[in-house]
Amino acid sequence: MKKIPYARQDISEEDIESVVRVLRSDYLTQGPAVDSFEADIASKIGVRHALAVNSATSALHITCLALGLGPGDWLWTSSISFVASANCGRYCGARVDFVDIDPVTYNICPTALADKLERAEKAGCLPRILVVVHMCGNSANMLEISVLSARYGFRVVEDASHALGGQYQGRYVGCCLYSDATIFSFHPVKIITSAEGGMIVTNSSKLHSKLASFRSHGITRDRAHMINGDNHGDWYYEQIDLGYNYRMSDVHAALGRSQLERLDRFVSKRNELAEIYGKELAELPIKFPRQESGTYSSYHLYVVRIMGTPKSPSRDEVYIHMKQAGVHLNLHYIPIYRHPYYEKFGYNPHEFPHSEKYYQEALTLPLYPAMTLEDQAFVISNLKNILK
Ligand SMILES: *Cc1c(COP(=O)(O)O)cnc(C)c1O
Repeated sequence: MKKIPYARQDISEEDIESVVRVLRSDYLTQGPAVDSFEADIASKIGVRHALAVNSATSALHITCLALGLGPGDWLWTSSISFVASANCGRYCGARVDFVDIDPVTYNICPTALADKLERAEKAGCLPRILVVVHMCGNSANMLEISVLSARYGFRVVEDASHALGGQYQGRYVGCCLYSDATIFSFHPVKIITSAEGGMIVTNSSKLHSKLASFRSHGITRDRAHMINGDNHGDWYYEQIDLGYNYRMSDVHAALGRSQLERLDRFVSKRNELAEIYGKELAELPIKFPRQESGTYSSYHLYVVRIMGTPKSPSRDEVYIHMKQAGVHLNLHYIPIYRHPYYEKFGYNPHEFPHSEKYYQEALTLPLYPAMTLEDQAFVISNLKNILK
């Protein structure tokens, strides 16, 4: 029987050769492949600095730390995202709150954000950091968010785990025109992969050097940054912060760098498949993804909404039917405040009406660059069978 996943990596012979070349070289980690991958990402995105780490989760953690997040602070993020967008706040001892989504784009709703900021200002609990998620690869409205950030003084971190290769106002998502830093994920389901891995990009040299320290134990070998740096041999280094080992290995970097060469091709293939879904499913009782104006989505995810009228099947029925046919759909995401770990902090679901409705209706259709037209046709005909 057919088995179609919702996402899958695309590995070429060149990718395999790049990895094998590192395995035969002198350095498996802390060698030249990481530097090259960072330089390639920075030049591709059009940003001054890039720092590779072992996951986007680690990237979010040290970015929050480097921006000074700590106990007593608030971090806000979108209520519909992967839990890592919020967990980074908890790692730093900060409290976490959520902003409802826009019902059309599924990104943070700028109006909901503005209302919540106004209330928070009165209550004296404005956030220090807002983690903006570019849901499904479709850029959030960064311009409106940056106006609010200037007015209320919070920092902006873009969680672009979905959005590598997507565009906003004619530039690649993540160029940090409206943010302090952007993070990317290279997990196999994402746009390009290094197996596990993440990257932080920023235009701030100060932030970059703090991040580099946190990535590797808080250790520095740069005399300019040392506290007791004089009168020591070349062997001398200092730990000046409490950092981590969040480094990316050269083996992973070689895979990521080789994949990066195919980024634009991956994204245009995703857009082609998305267009076919839009055309072929147009007659069905579902809502299609829509984009902010001035954006080009990387289509990490193709999320439809199953309205489930008395005459048509519910989202859950569609999910089960498709699974029986061998098509593994998914739900991105359960609202973060509904996870038991977060429930205990006492969020009120009524504060997030668009997230609640989204959670009832959303379904992710399979979409990945290696998907054949035949497999896509199989998905489409099964959806038609159940929904027509
Ligand atoms: C995948 C993902 C992450 C975490 O990425 P890892 O590299 O697996 O740590 C964070 N945020 C979002 C929105 C994601 O989709």
